Amino acid sequence: MKVTEHINQAKDTLFSIEILPPLKGQNIDSIFNAMDELMEFSPAFVDVTYHREEYVYKEVNNGLLEKRTVRKRPGTVGICAALKHRYSIDPVPHIICGGFNKEETENALIDLDFLGIDNILVLRGDPIKSEGRFKPEPDGHEYALHLLHQAVAMNNGEYLDPDLRNTTQTNFCIGVAGYPEKHFEAPNMKSDIRYLKQKVDDGAEYIVTQMFFDNDAFFDFEKKCRAAGITVPIIPGIKPLVSKKQLTVIPQNFYVNMPEEMVDLVEHSKTDADVREAGIQWCIKQCKELKAAGVPVLHFYTMGKSAITSRIAREVF
Ligand code: FAD
Repeated sequence: MKVTEHINQAKDTLFSIEILPPLKGQNIDSIFNAMDELMEFSPAFVDVTYHREEYVYKEVNNGLLEKRTVRKRPGTVGICAALKHRYSIDPVPHIICGGFNKEETENALIDLDFLGIDNILVLRGDPIKSEGRFKPEPDGHEYALHLLHQAVAMNNGEYLDPDLRNTTQTNFCIGVAGYPEKHFEAPNMKSDIRYLKQKVDDGAEYIVTQMFFDNDAFFDFEKKCRAAGITVPIIPGIKPLVSKKQLTVIPQNFYVNMPEEMVDLVEHSKTDADVREAGIQWCIKQCKELKAAGVPVLHFYTMGKSAITSRIAREVF
């Protein structure tokens, strides 16, 4: 079932989660264990992130370094298939521009269609860690918008080869990312929302936001999107802060602000357990307020911490 169908049929705010594939070499049990813990809250859908390749340098003979390309968290499509099969749940694979040319994207979408997957979240992807700027593949997409165009074309039965006849139309419900505190590369919020609206005008059916810790940032973003003419559901992305280190790591990696009140609570916590508790309580407060405001879904970035998500969900749903 499509994410938008789940939303349209719901009487109240839905629960959904995002999970990361395990590191290469690990088995799928960590995913199943997390799902087993969270199934009691009936997630409407489960997003599975996609992780592009990275460069690593391995020492070889005489202390020389050899550059190798590795994908540390492969398995997105396999996990989606496994989740659908085992839990009869709707997986949402993330599809990114980075590392893919158009032909590879087309083939990946064919795989997902054959697996009966109804939803995709289309994203540009971040730059390779050691490179400062995002570089598309030769014959790949530069922006999520262009990847969206390819997915929409396949929904219309248009493949890359214009000579293909009697083609199957895929039927993906396509989501895109939005940033309550602006995407880090955007010169300003107005420009970022203009591009977001373009994605919606060209076929995106819902938006999932980057994490945020200040609900006012979300409400303000939502207001600006509505004023710009964006009418699709906007799903808030939720992540509890669970360690003192995250006070600096999260802003560094995700370009989001931390409200003073939350930072004070964390900084005055004495033990690691106190910090975690402060983060959980802050997140519960955020979720209750968002739910009372009528958001369609609360979408949790579990990041391998299903027990914490479960504690929060128990208080909120
Ligand atoms: P875009 O929509 O392409 O926007 C990128 C930047 O370009 C923005 O600043 C935008 O304002 C600007 N822009 C957009 N269109 C145009 C245009 N036509 N011309 C000029 N400028 C333009 N990354 C992963 O690698 N894997 C994941 O699984 C993943 N999941 C995510 C899930 C969510 C909910 C979110 C919010 C992010 C996720 N990311 C993931 C991170 C994401 O890939 C990065 O934030 C990336 O830098 C931007 O992706 P985007 O789809 O928002 O890009």
